[in-house]
Amino acid sequence: MADVIAATDCFWLGPAMQALRTAHRADRVGHALLIHADPGCGGELLATWAAQLLLCRRDAAPCNACVDCRHCAAGQHPDLFVVRPTGDSLQIRVDDVRAFVADLALTSHGGGYRIGIVTPADALNAAAANALLKTLEEPPPRTVIALVSTTPSRLPATIRSRCLRLTVTAPGAAATQAWLAGQGRTGDLAAAVDVLGDAPLKLFDADIPAVTRLRADTTRALDEAARGGADPAALAERWSRDEYELRLACIEAWLNARIRLSAASATGNIARQFELLDAMRELRREIDAPLNKSVALERWLWRLADADSNRAA
Ligand SMILES: [Zn+2]
Repeated sequence: MADVIAATDCFWLGPAMQALRTAHRADRVGHALLIHADPGCGGELLATWAAQLLLCRRDAAPCNACVDCRHCAAGQHPDLFVVRPTGDSLQIRVDDVRAFVADLALTSHGGGYRIGIVTPADALNAAAANALLKTLEEPPPRTVIALVSTTPSRLPATIRSRCLRLTVTAPGAAATQAWLAGQGRTGDLAAAVDVLGDAPLKLFDADIPAVTRLRADTTRALDEAARGGADPAALAERWSRDEYELRLACIEAWLNARIRLSAASATGNIARQFELLDAMRELRREIDAPLNKSVALERWLWRLADADSNRAA
């Protein structure tokens, strides 16, 4: 079973890799790349591969075997710089960007390119984005900066407009499942894709049997709660303390399945189920907000029980 995935293992990165190869051959890579990748689809892996493409000095670059390629993959190449949020912060700070652009302005160690990776680029705070913009406007020669983002709409338009955009799209549920099986992952892959979404690398790292167990437990409890047979307060208290994020993903998968069933059999109040789905997505978006998770989830469970009692009435 493979434990480390390279960009070349990920078939869905193929079109973007081909576009980069073509641009490199024509000496048209430009100074800035914006890698817009779906979550769990390897945007950062593609950025590292791009660094290998530019820093590898062999004919068949990237060879994935020379010292340049290996040091890039390990994040230890002297001409490769990465800036990301540090510590508990969810933001990339201006001081870190200043150090990053100063490093990029130095003379190349290997006599070729200097590569910078900003990941995730939408974590740049306003001051940091501004500091980076100055370098994008007047880039040092032979410098390429790759910005990696799942939601580039959060980046200032002034930054976006200066980048060559590469899009990486999730391969689809069936292809993701087949790829996972090909990487030696076993268990209920369909259930795992259903919960974690079409995000191959996230699934690759996940404990699939544990996800499957949690999904089955959640389904059982929600079926009961929808019939008014569960205690929302106790359930919310227990779920908010353990695997909260994954639990919410299981709840959303359960709701989606229920909506599909209602639509197919023309039963149930679909509008109300979509309201529940919207509310659940809101909870998932606020996962890092300092709200009382147990209270928020309990409120949602009461809404679920109400929705069903209204339907029965
Ligand atoms: Zn190489």
